[in-house]
Order: sequence, then structure tokens, then C-alpha cells
Amino acid sequence: MAVKTSEKLHQLREVLAEVSDLSRAALLLEWDQETYMPPGGVQGRAEQLSTLLKLAHVRLTSDEVGHLLDDLEEEYADAPFDSDEASIVRVTRRDYDQGRKLPAELIAEAAHASSMGRPAWEKARHEADFSIFAAALEKNVELNRRIADALGYKERPYDALLDRSEPGMTTGELAAIFDELKQAIVPLVADIARHAGAVDDAMLYRGYDPDLQLSYALDVVKRLGYDLERGRQDLSTHPFSTGISPGDARITTRVSRDFFNECLFGSIHEAGHSMYNQGMGAGIDRTPLWDGASPGIHESQSRFWENLVGRSRPFWRHFYPSLQSVFPDSLRGVDEEAFYRAVNKSQPSFIRVEADEVTYNMHILLRFELENELLEGKLAIKDVPEAWNARFKSYLGLDVPNDREGALQDIHWSFVGFGIFPGYTIGNLVSAQLMEKVRADIPDLDAQIEQGQFATLLGWLRKNVHVHGRKFTPNELLERATGKPLTAKPWIAYVRKKFGALYGLSDRAAG
Ligand code: ZN
Repeated sequence: MAVKTSEKLHQLREVLAEVSDLSRAALLLEWDQETYMPPGGVQGRAEQLSTLLKLAHVRLTSDEVGHLLDDLEEEYADAPFDSDEASIVRVTRRDYDQGRKLPAELIAEAAHASSMGRPAWEKARHEADFSIFAAALEKNVELNRRIADALGYKERPYDALLDRSEPGMTTGELAAIFDELKQAIVPLVADIARHAGAVDDAMLYRGYDPDLQLSYALDVVKRLGYDLERGRQDLSTHPFSTGISPGDARITTRVSRDFFNECLFGSIHEAGHSMYNQGMGAGIDRTPLWDGASPGIHESQSRFWENLVGRSRPFWRHFYPSLQSVFPDSLRGVDEEAFYRAVNKSQPSFIRVEADEVTYNMHILLRFELENELLEGKLAIKDVPEAWNARFKSYLGLDVPNDREGALQDIHWSFVGFGIFPGYTIGNLVSAQLMEKVRADIPDLDAQIEQGQFATLLGWLRKNVHVHGRKFTPNELLERATGKPLTAKPWIAYVRKKFGALYGLSDRAAG
């Protein structure tokens, strides 16, 4: 019996290894597309990617895989839940079922609509005119709804789309969490606005040599624990990270002479993603388990390093003297405390990707609400800009000047991909939830960071998060690592304390 069992699992793992190789080859082509590919390569690259991804999908959803899963589920019924074997069977089953539920024509139609949506969105954004994009968005909403119907759901169509990116999470759970955030953050944002003068960040715009910024950022992420024997840094318009294999987890960054934050914090963010990939267990390589538990959990790792570590006082106590020696002119007369305050400036702004820690989640809440209303037919396409602007005013206190800085700013609605945005907020919340447990387990964490020692911290994340890859759903992972499912409380406590102190808010207002 034991021989038969290992034979079937061996067969499944051979198929999964092929699927993984095809997907990883596609990742490398995508990386190249965003970094070095000449403009003329667009058409050929789209064809290559489509071929590779189609082959991977066909292989994963084949009858052969279905039969192997049926047998293996029986044979491994008593295997420990967290064993590699039981987890490979369980997670492959989830991917297989979802893949089989979506008809090939629907996938093709969605891919086509996405490629048509991109130029419509670009033109509309360029002209700041939502009406140019309305028809494409209408089509995308319809396709999102058909995908939700094909996948199936109990209560709300969004459940199906959310479950695809954040397995096990429901719209209702998330709506309750967002509501809690709204109650806490809207007054905090208003309070900070009344004390806006407390933080001055003018020195961040004083001019920083780009080459020096790049080498400084690379040195910092190396010292955090990003392994350059198994990674590299390149330039791209939009920074991203790519986990191609355990030996190859890359980051890209961008650099601006006129604004310091972009290169360093962008590099730390992407290195946080890539350190996650570098820490995944060897036993799950070339299986569906070798990936982040979800986009939200992946984002928790980048936000953890970027904000909870990189924007902390102990971090700058360690790094500021060396930064100042690299940029003596731009940082003349600026002390460590002033610099720490500057990189934490909070101010409502129109563009999500530029938003600070406090205001960021409000941008996501707004999109979560609108996606749900569109999907359920409660909001007409033509009314999107008005709904956007009204909510923006109520959550962040700003009057949106035009659609470019409003409903048209993100690329996400140009393709068929509702359900992705919440991952950004989940990432923020999870980073604080993990940090709360890290502090309990490593009481001298701040002293270690002040000394520039990050190995114990990285070791904790490796053991509790990284090594598991996709073995667990987000809530299973959080229960194991922190004893609780996803909660907004640690994050709310963290921003109230940090920004209350930064802006000199009263305890009542801040607490
Ligand atoms: Zn990220």
C-alpha cells in the first residue's frame, strides 16, 4: 500500500512540477517585459505568455489530475493536516476545482475584454474623461459577475471572487473589518489634518543622487536579510517583485532625484515580498504550495518591512548616521528625529499608491464598496465618478478635481479582476497583527533593530509565515502564528499610538 501511495503522489508531483515550470517561465517573461524588453516586443510577448499560461491551465485541470486527486484524497485522509503530502493534495484540489469551474470560453472572453479595456482606460485617464471608459467597465463588470456565477457563492457574488484571491474569507467578514477601520480612521485623519503643521518633510525633496540612492537601498535590504545570491535588483516604471524559484527571487525599484522615499521604501517593500519567497520550504518547491498564502499575506510581508520596521524610530536610530554621511548636503542640519517624522508624514491625497500609512486603507475601502455595488447592480456605471467623489470627500475630506485623480487612477478596473484590492488592506492589518506577536516573542526587538540586527526577526517570519507557502489559508496561517483570525485591532492600536505621538494628538482624540 505504501508503495502505491507514494507512486500516485509521485505522479501528481510530476504534473505539478511541469505546471510550475510553465508558470515560472511566464513569470520570467513578464519580468523581462517590465524591465528590458524593447517596445517592439509587445505583440510577440503577449502570444508567448498566452501560450504558456494556457498550457499550464490545461495540464492542471486535466482528467488525469482529477483521477489522481480522487485516489490521493482517500489515501491521505488520515495524514496530518499540515504535512506536505496532505497539503499538496488539499491545495491542488482547490486550484483544480476552481480551474474546472471556469469554462475556457469565459476565460478567453475575459482575457479579450481585459486587453480591450487597457487602451480604453489609458485614453480615458489621459483625457480625464470617465465616459470614454464606461463601456469597457460595463463589460468587465458583467464578466466579473459571470465568473462569480460560474465559481458559485452562498451569499454575495463578491464572495466567489474574494475566495479566489483570499481563500476562506467572506465579503461579510471583510465588510465588518472595514467598518471598524472606518470608525477609527475617519476621525483620526481629520484630527491629523488639524495638526498638519507638526511634521515637516521638505528635506525629502532636496535632491538625492539617484545612483547613491540605489546603492544605499541595496545595502539596506541586504542587511535586512534579502539574499542577493538568490535575488537581484533592477529598474522598472512600477516596482514589483517576482519569485521565480527558491534560488531566484527578484525585485525592481524606481528612483527619483527629487523625492527620497520612492527608492528606499520601494526597495524595502519589494525585498519584503522577495524574502517571503526566499524563505519558502524546500519540500514544497515546484508544487502549488510554493507561493504566498494569498496576495494579502504577501502584502503583509512587504508592509511589515517597509512600515513597521523601515518607518520605525529604532530603524532610523541605526541607519540615519550612515544615510546622512551619504547625503551630507541634502540632510545638512536635519537630525534623526526630524527625519523619522518626515518619512511618516500623513496627509490625505488623491492617489492610492502615494498614500501614507493612515490614509491608505480608506482608498481600499472605497474600491471594495464600489466593486460590491457594481457587481450587485446597485450602482450604475455612469454614476461611478459621482459615487467615488462623494465617498472620497466623506472618508478623506478632499474634493476630487477630475476623473484622472479619481475613479480612473488605477489600472485594476481595466482588466477583469474584482476582488484583488482588499489584499492591500489585509496586508496592512496582518503586518500589525504579526508584529504584536513578534513583540511578545522577542521582547528586545527594538534594541536589536537599533543595533542593525534583523536575523532573529527574519527567523521568526521564516518559521511562522514563509516556510509554509500556500499550505494554509490566510486565517489558518494567522490562527497558527498569532492565535487569532484576521483582526483590525492591532493595526488600529498601532496607528493611533504612532500618529497620536507624531502629531501631538490628545489621548481622547488618539485613543
Ligand atoms: Zn506589495
